[in-house]
Amino acid sequence: MTLGCSMSDEPQDHAVECPLCHAPAVRGTLYGTDHMGSLQWFPGPPSWKDNLASVMYAGRLVGKMRGGAGAYIEGIRCKSCKRLILDEGS
Ligand SMILES: [Zn+2]
Repeated sequence: MTLGCSMSDEPQDHAVECPLCHAPAVRGTLYGTDHMGSLQWFPGPPSWKDNLASVMYAGRLVGKMRGGAGAYIEGIRCKSCKRLILDEGS
């Protein structure tokens, strides 16, 4: 087993280029709470109406569920332009 080799390769797996500013970015996962539909998407700025609507699951469900990981959505975080680019999943 080449344990040392796989450990040194790990940072490379997470390193990507930011699609917006092309600075080095990191692949990661954004977690929600552990009930179904906790990650919902509404277009536009934050509002109390959308917050209320999310209780009734009126938003677009995004992200995925996995036992142990809960509700999550994968994406890219760029420290240079301070953006999270999220992968909606399927
Ligand atoms: Zn960027």
